[in-house]
Amino acid sequence: MAQPIWQALISLVNLDHQALAIAKDIKNISTQISEKERELTNLSSTLKTHQEELKELRKKVGLVELRSKELDALEKKKRAQLDEIADQREYRSLQKELEVLGMERQDLDDQLINAYHQVELTEQKISDEKTLLAEKEQSINKIIEELQQQTNDLEKKKEELRSELQAKIAALPAEWVERYNRMKGRVSDPIVPLHNNSCSACFYIVVPQDIAKIKRGNLVSCRNCYRFLYYDKTEEKETSAEAQY
Ligand SMILES: [Zn+2]
Repeated sequence: MAQPIWQALISLVNLDHQALAIAKDIKNISTQISEKERELTNLSSTLKTHQEELKELRKKVGLVELRSKELDALEKKKRAQLDEIADQREYRSLQKELEVLGMERQDLDDQLINAYHQVELTEQKISDEKTLLAEKEQSINKIIEELQQQTNDLEKKKEELRSELQAKIAALPAEWVERYNRMKGRVSDPIVPLHNNSCSACFYIVVPQDIAKIKRGNLVSCRNCYRFLYYDKTEEKETSAEAQY
């Protein structure tokens, strides 16, 4: 005996639900993959920023060192001049200039100490970040690979479900498929059992002639919510047995 329509439709609903669940899982996994990829991108962009910073710091050190050398030459020259000057006024003014140069020297030395320290800190930071990035890259790539494998498995399962669904649909009368598809777009449970002579989804009391039809194995639309109602002897027995506890 062929499967009654209601049973065929229920298995259609089940397959549809499975397909939806799989699609949701695939989406979740894809989100996870993007998050992991973003984590790596963020790490490498931080590293890049610090590498740029280091470049700037080294440039600054180079400039200060250059100015320092210039200052050395200048001081040397002025000291030599100082030895040859006889005039007191000129001597004092040259001494003044040397004092100013001395202040600049102090300032440059401070700048250099500070810049060397910054370079050292940034180099350490970059080295730590490189290590972290390498570790993360390894672990994240492994995770992504696993997630991709999961996605592939799910896609395969989805494909299998699709052909199973198509086979079921092909076996059903076109009219029912159309009605089913219409209902499916509105509710997630388009087919529900008759329970205590009511629709088990909206609890609308079913009229006696519909009950009779349903109990003969026909599918009838609920006059309130339009879901398809079916009657499953075993299901109703089980539910009423449960209710007794
Ligand atoms: Zn209903």
